[in-house]
Order: sequence, then C-alpha cells, then structure tokens
Amino acid sequence: MTKNIEHSKLYQSEGVRLLYNNSLPGILITFVASSALAFTFIDDTNFNDKFAWWLVMSLILIMRVIDTRMWLKSNAEFKTRKTWLLRFGCGCLLSAAMWSLYAVIFYPQFSIEELSTTNVILAAMAGGATSILSGNLLLASFYNILILMPMSILLLMQPEQYKINLGGLGICFTAIMIVSSVRSSKYIKEAILLRYRNKKLVSRMEETIRVRTREVYEISNKDSLTGLYNRSAFLLAAQNVELEFKEQKISGFSIFFIDLDGFKNINDTLGHNVGDRVLVALSDRLKKFIDSGNLICRWGGDEFILLLKEHCPVLISELADKIIESLSRPIRLDEQNVTLNATIGISVCPEHESSITRLIQLADIAMYSQKGKYPERLAFYNMGLERDLHRKITLNEALKGALERNEFRLMYQPIVDATGQVVSFEALMRWRYQEKEISPVEFIPLMEQSGRIVQTGHWVLEEACKTLAQMNKHNAGICMCVNISLIQFYDKGFVNNVNRLIERYAIPGHLLHLEVTESIFQSDQMMINQKVSQLQQRGVKFSVDDFGTGYSSLSVIQNMNIDYIKIDRSFIQNIELKGLSIVQAMMNISRSLNFSVIAEGVETDKQRQLLEECGIPFMQGYYFSRPLERQNALVYLDQALESPPVVNGL
Ligand code: C2E
Ligand code: CA
Ligand code: CA
Repeated sequence: MTKNIEHSKLYQSEGVRLLYNNSLPGILITFVASSALAFTFIDDTNFNDKFAWWLVMSLILIMRVIDTRMWLKSNAEFKTRKTWLLRFGCGCLLSAAMWSLYAVIFYPQFSIEELSTTNVILAAMAGGATSILSGNLLLASFYNILILMPMSILLLMQPEQYKINLGGLGICFTAIMIVSSVRSSKYIKEAILLRYRNKKLVSRMEETIRVRTREVYEISNKDSLTGLYNRSAFLLAAQNVELEFKEQKISGFSIFFIDLDGFKNINDTLGHNVGDRVLVALSDRLKKFIDSGNLICRWGGDEFILLLKEHCPVLISELADKIIESLSRPIRLDEQNVTLNATIGISVCPEHESSITRLIQLADIAMYSQKGKYPERLAFYNMGLERDLHRKITLNEALKGALERNEFRLMYQPIVDATGQVVSFEALMRWRYQEKEISPVEFIPLMEQSGRIVQTGHWVLEEACKTLAQMNKHNAGICMCVNISLIQFYDKGFVNNVNRLIERYAIPGHLLHLEVTESIFQSDQMMINQKVSQLQQRGVKFSVDDFGTGYSSLSVIQNMNIDYIKIDRSFIQNIELKGLSIVQAMMNISRSLNFSVIAEGVETDKQRQLLEECGIPFMQGYYFSRPLERQNALVYLDQALESPPVVNGL
C-alpha cells in the first residue's frame, strides 16, 4: 500500500518534469498550427474575430512559454511541486479550449476545405497530445476530450450524413486517443519506475563503495584494536607536518613518546583480553587530546606517539601532565579497577631536530631515561640523555665478556663495632674498563637489566667466601657482607649455590651476611620468604641495605626475620640536622622488633659520636676505612689483631 502511494507520488512528480520538458515543442506546434489555421481561411468578414482568436491563443502560448522558463529556472527540489502541475494543466487546457472555441465559433462560416483542415489539425493536436502529455494521464485525457468532443458533438447534430459520420468518427477517435494515452502513460510510469530503481541502485552502490573505501582506509591506516593511527599512516601524516614547518606554515611542533608503566604486569597476570581492554580504554582517553592538526598513533605494544603542533615548553609540559594524570586514573573493568601509569619523553622541533624520525628517536631516548625514576614521569630530551644512552649501550657491550676477561675484582670495607673493633667486611665490586674504574652504581643496574648479574653475582659470592675463609684463619669470627640483587633470588639455583659455597670453603653459615635492598619487599613474597628462611636455617644472616630510602614495611621485616638493617648514609650525613631523630627512631624500632642496626657512610668523628650516643652498635664508612683491596684488607685485619679483638656477635 505504502509502496503504491510512494509510486503514484513518484509518477506525479516525475510526470511534472516530463510535461515541462516536452512543453516548448508542444507550444511551438500549437502556435504554428493556430497561425496557419487562422490566417489560411481569413477574409474580410471574419478578419477581426479570427485575428482576436489568434491573438488570445498566442497570448496563452506566451504565458505558457514564460511559465516553462520559470519552471526551468526554479530550484531542482521545487521542480516537482503540485502547483507546477496545476499551472501547466491550466495553460494546456486553455489552449485546448481555444481550439474548440475556434471550431464552434467559426463553424457556421466553414467551407468544406476549412472544415476538413480544422478536423485534421484538431485530430493531429489530439494525437500529438497523447505522447507530449503522457506525463499525466488525466491531463492528456481531458485535453483530448476538450479538443475533440465539442466539434464532434456539433457535427453529430448536423443534418448532413457525412457530417454525422465525421462527428461519430471524432468521438471514436477521442476514445482511441484516451486508450492510447492510458497505454503510453503506462509505459511512462514503468520507465519512471525503472529510472527510479536504477537511481536507487546506483546510489546504493555508491554508498557500498563509500563504506568499502572507508573500511580499506581504516584497515591500512588505523590500528585495529584502538582505532588510532598505525605506525605507517602516522609517519606519513607527520611528514606532512614536517613539510608545513619547512615551508614556515607553522613555527614548530613536538613529539610525545608515551609508554605505559606496568602494562606487562596486567597482560601477564590478568590475561591478554584484559590487556586489550585496558589499551582501548586508555586510547579513548588519549583521543580526547587530539584537536586541530594534532596526531596520535599506537606505535606498538603499549607505546603511543602524540604529535602536537606546539613547541612552547610551558604549554607542552602542561599538556603532558594532563595526559599523565588522565592515564593514571583507575580503569573500571567489570568488577575490578585496574590502574596504570605512563612515562612521557618529549622532543621539540626546531629546538632539538626537525626530522620526524629523528624526533621520535629523541623522544624515545627521553622516555627511556625517565622510565622508573618516579615520581617524575616526564622528561624533555637533552644532549646528555643521548650521551648517557650511548654510554649505556657501550658499557653493556663491554660487560658481555668482562667476567671471562677477569676485569672484575672485589674490595672490602670494614664494619666496626661501638669500640672501633673490626667485626666484618662488606665486599664491593670493582670493574676496570679501558684503564678506568667504572662505578658499580653504573654497571650493576646494567647487569641487572641484562640478567648477567646472576652469573657475576655468583662469582662475587665465591670470591667473598674465599676471602672470608682466608680471613677466618687469622681472625675467627670475622663476618663477610655480600650485596645480593633481587634478580639473583629469582634464579632457581641460588640457595643451592650459596650452600655449596659454604660447604666448599668450610665457612660457618652465620659468618656470611647477605645484603638485600628494600625492593625485595615488593616482590614475590612467598618465594623470597622461602629462600631467605632456607638460608637462615644454615645460619646465614640477612641485612636490609640502604634502609629508609625505599618502601620497607616493618611488618614484612619482622615476618622475614631480618637480622640487620643498614641505615642509609643519607641519614648519617644529615645527622647533625634532622637525621638524628630518625636514627633514634630506627634504633628504638630495632630494639622492639629484635634486629640490629649498622650505620653506613660515617665520615666524621662527630657523626660517630652522635651515633654512639644513640646506641648504634655497628658502623661503616670512610671515617674508619675506605674499601680496601683484598691484600690490604687482610693486612688491616692483621693489624687489628695486634690489639685484643672484641667479639660482638655480628
Ligand atoms: P652499598 O651497598 O650501599 O655500598 C656502600 C657504598 O657506599 C659503596 O660504594 C662504598 O664505597 C660507599 N661508601 C662507604 N663508606 C662511605 C662513606 O663514608 N661515604 C660515602 N660517600 N660513601 C661510602 P660503591 O662501592 O661504589 O658501591 C655502590 C653500590 O653498588 C653499593 O652500595 C651496592 O648497592 C652496589 N654494589 C657494589 N658491589 C656489588 C655487588 O657485588 N653486588 C651487587 N648486587 N651490588 C653491588
Ligand atoms: Ca651494601
Ligand atoms: Ca648501602
């Protein structure tokens, strides 16, 4: 039903178009025919009347020409309105009425020639109308009736038989014309419908092509998970920005290298599905930072790059802080909250570079240098960072064969008790590379990152145990402190290796002290507790190194049965200012939780005195001795033997 209504509306509106498109030839034929008819049979008796008729007919035709022009000039969307049909219909029927008027008015004066000419013209006009007016069946039919019927009826009423026959013929002709109008309008309807369907098909095809093109664009330019630009599309768009800068259309821009902190953990513990949802949620947050001309892409894994058309450091920092704040807000996933953070490295054009690929590299360097240095999570590139990175890469390479090349050695720094007697040594690693001593502060983290610390750490333990065995020949009861990295705990053979060394060098277990940093309390507690207690069963003691700089929880220290804490040297250096109260507090806690305290980094007699007043039982630092080469440490110990040793049970 609705389809029928839709089709008849379509036929009506397309019909108007057809009528007007055929209008001018129809008008021209009418004009030619009316002029010919009026002036061929004109004479003095009917001149005025025929001329008047011709004038009125011509005026009507002029009006119709004007109307057609107006239609042609009207807006496409208004061309099919119903009022046009009314206007056209009026003009057309008026012309038909004029034809009939001619026949009826001038009939009494018709000669046989004029009668037949008029009949032929009317029949021809009616015949033409079936095709010219096929856009509207009703109009075509009325036109035919109006043009043929009056004359036919008039003829029927005449006494002469041939006129009656002619009248009958006229009526039959009208009927035939109407039937033929019906048929031609049917064809027109079908043609209109076909055209409409074709048009619809074409527009549907165009839409499908549009959708497919968009899909192809998205597949080749967008990251399928997050919907952000992918690497290659970003580089292409970014190169255009680089060009804009070179053509001085913009004064500069900046690259943010954004790396998520803790994403690997989420993937490993909650699964890749959750990982993907986290990436989508965070990408949606990043999308909010895209505005005029800025670009953002997923560079890979959990890395994103933002290109900002701004190079003012203040504005850049503000935006970077906002991004960090936005990314560190909890993400709600089903029943749980997941919280991540992000580190951002920034490079700026033209300050640092102007090539996109180089700027990305520099921003990456800045990000990498800042990674892990919380709470600050934002870094601008500077030349120093690149030098640091190069040095790291060079040292990393050099560390590969350092153990085999015997480039490592240990130094030993004494630890003394309250009376100044040496009770222990701390083994400290040294690396001589290209005639220079490299600080362990620099190379230990590199070995931790590469995992090389496991093998080297074992070597340190063995060296320290050898020295300890030797020292104990001279001075029984001297202890050895060895620094252990968290990574070494994750090594499956760690406990066995320590046990084997204790046995091989026949060392009483309690003389070996292992120093661990507070980071140990943030790791796999079960595993660490187990290994610590296995070694403690062999008598090995544990110290928490650099105490107070990390995240120690006193309850964890108690659970783990830690034997010593080493107060970090920063508190000792500060002892004459605020440090004293902190040292006192640590001392009090140690008494109630039953562990002992070592103060490290004692450099002056004043510091020693204050620590003594606090009741600190053990001290280490340059004031007593710098770290000593193995031989010197043995000599140091021998000299200490000369004064009677005080055994402190360290
Ligand atoms: P640490 O365990 O805190 O070692 C003490 C550091 O403080 C040593 O630096 C020592 O030379 C220095 N020191 C001692 N007394 C004083 C003092 O009075 N004033 C000052 N300013 N410093 C003092 P070093 O030898 O450069 O070692 C640095 C760090 O490297 C160590 O800090 C330790 O964390 C790490 N390390 C050294 N050897 C090893 C090792 O064999 N294994 C592991 N895992 N780490 C090691
Ligand atoms: Ca230490
Ligand atoms: Ca320390």
